[in-house]
Amino acid sequence: MRMPHEVDALVVGAGFSGLYSMHKLRGLGLSTVILEKGDGVGGTWYWNRYPGARCDVESPYYSYSFDEDLQQDWEWTERYPAQPELLKYINHVADRFDLRKDIFFETTVVSAVFDESTERWTVTSIGPDGGSVISAKYCIMATGCLSSARMPDIPGINSFTGRLLHTGMWPHEEVDFTGQRVGVIGTGSSGIQAIPMIAKQAKNLQVFQRTANFSVPAFNGPIDQEWFAKIKANYPELRERSRHTAMGIPYQRRNQAAVDISEDERRAVFEEHWPKGGFRISSCFNDLMRNKESNDSLSDFVRAKIEQTVTDPKTAELLKPYGYPITGKRICVDTDYYATFNRENVQLIDVKSDPIVEITPTGVRTESNFYELDALVVATGFDAMTGAMLRMDIRGRDGASLREHWDAGARTYLGVAIAGFPNLFTIAGPGSPSVLSNMLTSIEQHVEWITDHLAYLQAKGYETSEATTASEAGWVEHVRELADQTLFPTANSWYLGANVPGKPRVFMPYVGGVGTYRAHCEGVAAREYEGFALK
Ligand code: FAD
Repeated sequence: MRMPHEVDALVVGAGFSGLYSMHKLRGLGLSTVILEKGDGVGGTWYWNRYPGARCDVESPYYSYSFDEDLQQDWEWTERYPAQPELLKYINHVADRFDLRKDIFFETTVVSAVFDESTERWTVTSIGPDGGSVISAKYCIMATGCLSSARMPDIPGINSFTGRLLHTGMWPHEEVDFTGQRVGVIGTGSSGIQAIPMIAKQAKNLQVFQRTANFSVPAFNGPIDQEWFAKIKANYPELRERSRHTAMGIPYQRRNQAAVDISEDERRAVFEEHWPKGGFRISSCFNDLMRNKESNDSLSDFVRAKIEQTVTDPKTAELLKPYGYPITGKRICVDTDYYATFNRENVQLIDVKSDPIVEITPTGVRTESNFYELDALVVATGFDAMTGAMLRMDIRGRDGASLREHWDAGARTYLGVAIAGFPNLFTIAGPGSPSVLSNMLTSIEQHVEWITDHLAYLQAKGYETSEATTASEAGWVEHVRELADQTLFPTANSWYLGANVPGKPRVFMPYVGGVGTYRAHCEGVAAREYEGFALK
């Protein structure tokens, strides 16, 4: 397949965002290609093949809603879909909508430069046949919020002679840990999903924990067919409801403040929500992220559950998170995470009190111990929300570089456009609900909003659309103000860039909720794309 020299629209990334973008852009009659680093579609679900990788949103809702036949035809097998099932689904979508023929795989975009004389983007990539250059009128950056995996800066990490694996760059073939001494560094979402699975195989598992995270049980299982049939029968209504909720799933947050009732009554509400599984616990009161007392109640409740599950009191105490609000860091959803520490072959190493000093060819050395290992799994996450964009050299008007523009933190208008970077759009970018929502709902909303915008430009004969500096500044301030009204910025989370040394500490996602955000975007469109300079 030959790469064209010129297209109307160029999409970077073949995950859920990129594929739907391609489908909608084609619908506008625009010639479109996708350039994708991996050798297949799927994005997150292509790269994260570690044991236990699973979505935290229930399968009927973590799926596209744009095509009624698709959502009626597809049969989910589990309540929460595992990575292989998601990858199968997204491959099905690629085939069903004939998307593959315009996707260039194993092709990494290294730069995108706006040429003011032609008002087009020059996009340079490196692929299997070397370098390529494409000229595109529109650039859609569907590069993902959690696609830039980070290796930790631990001295000696590359000297390890055993198997070194990052959860976000997992090999395609099955990894067998049978009989091995395995270490896992990192106890965020990926670590918490992988640890119970690895523990079942490994001879011995050492879990290196710096910060304990809050995790709640998924109560996963085969999908309840009666429940799924009811969803299918009501899909249009449930999807529409999801679009106007806080998180992009069709459950309403209970409209009661925890502080308005007694501690005993709160506990009763938590107990009632606990068996519902997953994130449901965090929507049982409306003030959990606004009021420290309410948040402390839920934190205490979850800490008590950890204590009830883990038999060794010292290990239980180390696994209890303190010092930040629950859901201030992404709440983890697990299957048997805490119970795994009751296994004889699993040890928790507290690297806050005994820090890792180096990795040697044969294991991990802390200040006071050495752990010999055959395999080391790194689950330290991603340079979230901005990492993939900043790995490329993106230059807008006057040669201005995105790296400089975002030097003090990401700046966008509505999370979709950037001042000085005409005709370039981001999907689920910083400044939008993104990682605080069911991302499928947010991705569809962004793709539809952007393609409606492009249809408007075409209809009116505009060549370029560009967020103004003032609208961008106003949006950045609005996003900051909203975040400051919550407890979110009090946690050292990846939402804030705190996991990447030297990254500016700016709270990146929009906390106002999916529905409110959508209304904002619709208002902007209704006011003929207020805040954009159209030429
Ligand atoms: P991605 O799926 O990240 O796709 C981006 C693609 O862009 C990648 O394939 C990447 O290779 C490509 N790319 C990036 N840079 C370049 C470049 N320079 N050149 C070429 N290609 C490039 N979301 C939820 O809503 N619920 C969940 O439960 C949930 N669980 C998750 C679990 C894990 C382990 C992870 C990592 C993420 C999870 N997410 C979850 C977030 C998830 O990323 C989104 O739901 C969704 O898959 C994002 O789709 P995307 O297309 O926007 O980005």
